[in-house]
Amino acid sequence: MKYDYLIVGAGFSGCVLAERLASQRDRRVLIVEKRNHIGGNACDYYNESGILVHKYGPHYFRTNNQAVWDYLSRFTPWHPVQYRILAFVDGQLVPFPINLDTVNGLFGTRYDSAGLDKYFKQIRSRKKQVKNSEDVIVSQVGRDLYEKFFKNYTKKQWDLWPGELDPSVCKRIPVRTNRDPRYFGDVYQAMPKFGYSWLFRRMTDHPNIQVLLQTDYRDVLDDLRFDHLIYTGPIDLFFDGMYGELPYRSLRFEHETRDVEFVQPVSQVNYPNDYDFTRIVEIKHVTGQRHPQTTLVREYPTAEGEPYYPIPKAENEALYRKYHREAKKLKQVSFIGRLAQYRYLNMDQVVANSLQLFETLSS
Ligand code: FAD
Ligand code: UDP
Repeated sequence: MKYDYLIVGAGFSGCVLAERLASQRDRRVLIVEKRNHIGGNACDYYNESGILVHKYGPHYFRTNNQAVWDYLSRFTPWHPVQYRILAFVDGQLVPFPINLDTVNGLFGTRYDSAGLDKYFKQIRSRKKQVKNSEDVIVSQVGRDLYEKFFKNYTKKQWDLWPGELDPSVCKRIPVRTNRDPRYFGDVYQAMPKFGYSWLFRRMTDHPNIQVLLQTDYRDVLDDLRFDHLIYTGPIDLFFDGMYGELPYRSLRFEHETRDVEFVQPVSQVNYPNDYDFTRIVEIKHVTGQRHPQTTLVREYPTAEGEPYYPIPKAENEALYRKYHREAKKLKQVSFIGRLAQYRYLNMDQVVANSLQLFETLSS
């Protein structure tokens, strides 16, 4: 059998491209995925207690991109939700990102928004140039709040201090002087109503799409005939690490199911300064599922294991650029997604990039 496209990886990148090529261009597509499921890191499943859980950490869908929202809405209805996170700091659970209630709760103050704004202006360290993630935070809220919320969480998560990471890492987190408790400010915030895996099944349910699971593409490459390869795995592995290994951060997930409806007040509690795990996630808060039991997931960052996070810092970017230059020489191969582009991308950005790539593939 000859395919028009071989797609390596059945995550958001692979599934969006397969769906577009199959349905809009009538192309025959084979997706080869080394894991035993589709969905990549956004995969979810019903565990042994029947609770819908996220296999690789919490996936909170949000976007400001109308085209991405409209596109995904063809395949799934949504469960609208506002994501809320608390941080356990100085023995208290306070809202995170830092807002008016965080500061008043922590320090016993009674600031209003204008007062907090003035306070931040007094305590923040002005920086001529924001060069790293430490600068991002101390230039907004000063050193004390930086140390309470960011310094140790970041060290646990990345095994790097914020001062060693690109500004973009901590720029993901807003600072607010109002009482807005939401994690994100995006226009659209919702979970796929029946879960991510259901969404991926809908996307790939097309006669032109075949999926081969539990297969590393390198093991079958010689047996396959295809015109174009779309690669969504780690870019350094594609080139057998010829310039050296790109570093990735991984996580170990510890699941615990309890016989109560909810344990935490919200879906996620961050522990910047206590324990070896970074956060405890109780995803049932945002999936909308009704169930008498609940599952908690603790996340322990590790250096070994599946590559979950590219590590944004200058020397890694320089190494990535070397691979990127090699990639550009290959006209019959496209590199797309969080691992192939070595970018700390959210799901909506990955979908947007894949839709964009689709437009450039010859019709
Ligand atoms: P992936 O999902 O990584 O898919 C790549 C696939 O390629 C994998 O399934 C892999 O097994 C396969 N593959 C690799 N090499 C081979 C090979 N040699 N042969 C065959 N198959 C191969 N985004 C958000 O928007 N909101 C969130 O809240 C959020 N939370 C996250 C939490 C965690 C812990 C993590 C790790 C990520 C989170 N993300 C979140 C990001 C989100 O997971 C990614 O943006 C998205 O899943 C990337 O899709 P992808 O297809 O590019 O990559
Ligand atoms: N961060 C932090 N303290 C927190 C939450 C986040 O220092 O309580 C920093 C940390 O460096 C983290 C980054 O901000 O890796 C991005 O956080 P986000 O919640 O977006 O991480 P993700 O969900 O992608 O793991």
